[in-house]
Amino acid sequence: MSGKIGGENGGQDLKRKNGVLAEPNAYAMVVEEFGKPLCYREFKLPQPQNGEVLVKIIASGICGSDVHVWKGEDMRSRLPMILGHEGLGIVDQVNTGRMDIFQNELAEGDLILWNRGVSCKACYQCLIKRKTYNCTSRWTYGFSKSINDYPYLNGSYSSHMLLTPETEIIRIRKAEEVKPEEDYIPYVSACCAGTTTACVFEQIRIDQADHVVIQGPGPLGIYAVLFAKEAGAQNIIVIGGTKERLDLCRKAGATHIIDRSQTTEEERLRQVMAFTDGRGGDVVLELAGTKEAVEEGIKFTSVNGTYASAGIAVDVGDVKINWFRDVVRKNVTVKGVWVGDVKNTYQALKIYEKHKELLAEMISHRIPLKEADQALQLMEEKKTVKAVLIP
Ligand SMILES: [Zn+2]
Ligand SMILES: [Zn+2]
Repeated sequence: MSGKIGGENGGQDLKRKNGVLAEPNAYAMVVEEFGKPLCYREFKLPQPQNGEVLVKIIASGICGSDVHVWKGEDMRSRLPMILGHEGLGIVDQVNTGRMDIFQNELAEGDLILWNRGVSCKACYQCLIKRKTYNCTSRWTYGFSKSINDYPYLNGSYSSHMLLTPETEIIRIRKAEEVKPEEDYIPYVSACCAGTTTACVFEQIRIDQADHVVIQGPGPLGIYAVLFAKEAGAQNIIVIGGTKERLDLCRKAGATHIIDRSQTTEEERLRQVMAFTDGRGGDVVLELAGTKEAVEEGIKFTSVNGTYASAGIAVDVGDVKINWFRDVVRKNVTVKGVWVGDVKNTYQALKIYEKHKELLAEMISHRIPLKEADQALQLMEEKKTVKAVLIP
């Protein structure tokens, strides 16, 4: 399928009735019941008011979290709702004076992406701790709002979205520089996977020649390999069970790959020790999303090492750790990482631009938006590296 802007997708939002061109509509795939097929729904195209931006979506990444939300496992979601927090789009309508985060005035035709979370910038976490992603009143596109809540078109499994005046937008290309022949779709990987991974690396420290162990070779893991290399890691060891994902990690710069499906836990521990001069990972990253990964990974962590966890996005229950042996006795730092902010999205974009070709390869499936159900299915069965929906 073509990933290009315009062309065959152009004019798709114009609906013909009896051969007459009617009012342009927006459409979205809506979750009406948790775990049930998504429903195609049309919406009247909104007129953006001051500061709002109407975006024509060109791609929406499918995230592992979408499967949890769709099944009703995320406490934030309210039905009926539109999934999708990884949107990339073209400004369709905007009033004068709306800026992106770098004070570029936005205009029709600009290629943009945006921070999926909107924070108050006034609470203790926002103002004092400066962690806007932990804001007590943060809401997220594609997670927290129903289609009855402003701004209504608030998820990216849709032809259009309405971004609020508070939404932090990054202009990737101005309208004049958007080339119809260029494939911009892989940029969606920076929205969530890249952003969260950047946030992990902002909160840990990698010294030159440190050994880094990454659990989970998915989109976060692939970005993590790139960030670790950038930080000067000596050996980068990736553990995972999907061949296509592990291959991409190797291409990205992983020095060692451990296939989880071919090894026992003892063998993996032995291999990690062998690849890390017998001391374990100075930094071990959980980007796998299971509690078993945590229980195993904490044992891979070296004395004075750091164990950071960002892959677990829903409550997976209690984790069993020998706290004395694997944390206190080893002087280990344990760090939880929750999503990221617009600075992290910017950092992810910088990494993206440096490794465009590799990260474009990560987009394994481009699926029409109307087939979102099949796409969620593929995601759940881990048959994709990264799938995107194209309206
Ligand atoms: Zn996501
Ligand atoms: Zn706040």
